[in-house]
This record gives sequence, structure tokens and C-alpha cells, in this order.
Amino acid sequence: MKKPALCATFTATAAVLAFLLSASPAQAASKLKVVTTTEDLAALAREVGGDHVEVEAIARGYQDSHFVEAKPSFILKLNRADLLIVVGLQLEIGWLPPLITQSRNPRIQLGTPGYLDVSQFCEVLEIPAGQITRAMGDVHPLGNPHYWLEPQNGRRIAQGIANKLADLRPQEAAYFQQRFQDFSNRLTAAEKVWDQRMAPYRGREVVTYHRSWPNFAKRFGLEVVGYVEPKPGIPPSPSHTLELINMMRREKIKLILVEPYFDLKTPNAVGRETGAQVVVLLPSVGGEKEVTDYFKLFDYDIGLLVAAFERTK
Ligand SMILES: [Zn+2]
Repeated sequence: MKKPALCATFTATAAVLAFLLSASPAQAASKLKVVTTTEDLAALAREVGGDHVEVEAIARGYQDSHFVEAKPSFILKLNRADLLIVVGLQLEIGWLPPLITQSRNPRIQLGTPGYLDVSQFCEVLEIPAGQITRAMGDVHPLGNPHYWLEPQNGRRIAQGIANKLADLRPQEAAYFQQRFQDFSNRLTAAEKVWDQRMAPYRGREVVTYHRSWPNFAKRFGLEVVGYVEPKPGIPPSPSHTLELINMMRREKIKLILVEPYFDLKTPNAVGRETGAQVVVLLPSVGGEKEVTDYFKLFDYDIGLLVAAFERTK
């Protein structure tokens, strides 16, 4: 029987991959190749991995990591990886599983030592009670996957990655643990600054587009009182938007925070109707060019928030 064209293409791709792999034999002293699903995890892996690892992210920081368009280059990255680090909680479920399968890399399959889901280390909020479903397209069925937006969780993720790198390369364990300790110390110093900057605005009420900020809000004392999306992953509807406008007028909400990958049409309309300001806040490293690491992400967002709170006193 004749194979479908797609299957033939895939076989050819697999052959090319196999050739590339055989052309670059693994060396014992080579750097560990780490692939992360997001730039946030890549930033944390670089903090603890230093120059003993090569780190590449799949999703870009200005993309919605729930919905990433799969590209053949991702399969090649995964094919070569020694370690795959994921956010988990089904954040990547729409695009990652087929890529892992197609990578044909036994080292990073689910359940192997080269597959690391860092949600296990973190405080996860909004875990649904009762039956777990993706009812009405809710993309947070296992709890909120945007947990990296809180420095304590960032520290936990970094520690988990350091431990995993040490497991994979026991002879380099002291290096990774030292890098983690240094990162943790710098994070402690940065947290003091961030907490001080945000302290005057504790209790401020905001609306956000997507449910990206529960960990951030809890940490810095903000109250998220509404969302532009009716449910995570569901675009704004006229009836929900009207309810939101009425609530914001009643409660005098002055700030709408929007992730950079969402259309500003509805947030701007809500802003016009309520007098609230729209601020594009970054949920990820790489959301803007200058946001190149985990520290700069909080520096950037807190800088924007402080300015916005001052404008809307
Ligand atoms: Zn989400």
C-alpha cells in the first residue's frame, strides 16, 4: 500500500534527524543541552547552569505560551536535548506532546530523568475543587500555570533545576549548587527592593486580561477583581464585557493589565467606558528586548505598575 505523502515527509525528516544526530557524537565533557518550553524557565536554567549548559527556549516571551505554533526547528532542538524543562499544569498541552513524540529522543520522554516538570516545586494557586475538566475551553484545568511570576517560586524552580542538573552530572553538582546559592542571594536582595517599591500600593484593585497574575498579586498585595476574558483562554464576549464595565464603574477600578499578545481593542474600549488606564504588563522574560533575565522581568513590571498607580491615585 502506498504511504500517505505526509508520512513519507515525516520519514524523510526522521532520516535527516538521525543523520544530524550521528554526525555529532555526544562527548562526555560536553555541555548539557537543556531545552525549556518558555523563556522564563530558560532564564532560570541559565542562572544555575552557567557555562556548563546550553539552554534554548521554544516559546518566545512575547508569545502566549498556551498557544504556540509548532515549527520543525522545535523538533530538532528537542531531538538534541539532554533535559526538557516544562511549566506543566497543561500550559503546553496544546502543542508540546506531539513535538516530544516526533523528536524521537528517548532521553526527554515523559517519565524519564530528562523530563522535568517544575510545577511540582511551586506554590500553585486556583487549583479547582472537584472534577477536573477543560470545561468551556478553560485552559487552567489543574490550577494556575503562571506561577513563575512570584520570586519565591522562581527560587524553588531554580533549586529544582539545580538538583536535576546535579543528578544528570554528579561530578558537576557542586558547581550547580553554588550557582543556585548565588542566584538565591541575589534574588533575596532584589525581593527586598521589589517589596519596598510595591508596599505603598498594597490593596490596589486591578482588572487583568487573562488570569496570569494570581501569584504576583498575592505576593505584592494586589487585588485582581475581574478579567477581560470570561474564562481563561476564552475571548471577550459582549455580555461579559458589559458586566465588566458596570463592575469597574461601580468599584472605581482604574487599571487594566494586558499581556502583550492580546488584542487591545476590548481593553481600550473598556478603558474608554470606565476611565481606567490600560497597561501592557509582561508575563515573561523576552516580552520586550531589554527584559533578558528573571530579575529584569520584575524590574520592568514593577516599574510600569508603580508609574501606573501614581498616575491613577
Ligand atoms: Zn493561562
